[in-house]
Amino acid sequence: MSKRDYYEVLGIERGADQKEIKKAYRRLAQKYHPDRNPDDDTSAEKFREVSEAYEVLTDSEKRAAYDQFGHAGVDGQAGGGGFGGAGAGGFSDIFGDVFGDIFGGGGARRNPNAPQRGSDLRYNLELDLESAVAGTSVDIRVPRHIECERCDGDGAEPGSSKETCPTCNGMGQVRMQQGFFAVQQTCPTCHGSGQHIKVPCHKCNGEGRERETRTLSVKIPAGVDTGDRIRLNAEGEAGINGGPPGDLYVQVAIKPHHIFEREGRHLQCEVPINFVDATLGGELEVPTLDGRVKLKIPPETQTGKMFRLKGKGVKPVRGGPAGDLLCRVVVETPVKLSEEQKDLLRTFQDSLDGSNSHHSPKKSNFFDGVKKFFEDMKP
Ligand SMILES: [Zn+2]
Ligand SMILES: [Zn+2]
Repeated sequence: MSKRDYYEVLGIERGADQKEIKKAYRRLAQKYHPDRNPDDDTSAEKFREVSEAYEVLTDSEKRAAYDQFGHAGVDGQAGGGGFGGAGAGGFSDIFGDVFGDIFGGGGARRNPNAPQRGSDLRYNLELDLESAVAGTSVDIRVPRHIECERCDGDGAEPGSSKETCPTCNGMGQVRMQQGFFAVQQTCPTCHGSGQHIKVPCHKCNGEGRERETRTLSVKIPAGVDTGDRIRLNAEGEAGINGGPPGDLYVQVAIKPHHIFEREGRHLQCEVPINFVDATLGGELEVPTLDGRVKLKIPPETQTGKMFRLKGKGVKPVRGGPAGDLLCRVVVETPVKLSEEQKDLLRTFQDSLDGSNSHHSPKKSNFFDGVKKFFEDMKP
């Protein structure tokens, strides 16, 4: 497929200045950005085409070559090699990065005018369990760089124009004699952009970006858990040279809860019961995230026994049924008993028949085991 003309791709005149190129690029890049057109091959191809056109037309050296030779002037692969020494292109391919910078023009040099996507940002958000389970909406304050509105990210004071860099005459590169070689280096004055800002923008001091702290309202879906990330499209740092902004990731962490412990979609809690209820059986009130529920304790319940309340856990954020609430009962030894109560317990103790085996099978099993252990040790 033959390539379309770069000016045509961006829909601009051949004499368009940097600002016009950038505006056109931004409009098209946003339209065809892969984030906005997932799984759309046509858009992906258009995005690639637009980016390529932008990269060439904002690099003064490449643009000059393109204007003169067309695609052959800027396509390394097409065999044209173009300008600044076709041999240099081949040379740097062989020697890679080592010679890439010195010889320049070989394609290894990064174009400082090329659009760069802004950085992604991360915001750590601590949530209490209740809001994480029910879902909520929180306002967060995010400090970030945005494109300066006064100069549209250009860096030059509106009304003033960028002038051609006097050191390199807009080439972005300077030629220097080093021994036998005449080598090209990135221009130290303009760092390769080929342009010089005469009057820096008053608002951003020529940076093209400024800091702001924005308050964003973030919808937290029900069921999120520690480690989940919520992506806010294009709310990260502003791009450079008209590149798209990065994304903002809200990283969720759930604060410890005083009653419940969460494990994925299940919740766990510990419920103390007294030994009379544990022995005779009874009914307990246990907490759940949507209020108290009654839990029947059967007679002769041992400490550590787990009771499962189906569906009283968490509905996972990625779908599926709600988990369970696991209640672990812990028998509490009574404290601060009166003399009278202690006497009752002693009477109770006497009432148990001499052997443990009947009323305390665990205890008697244990001591049988201990006895056997010491017998086995005898020579
Ligand atoms: Zn500005
Ligand atoms: Zn320069």
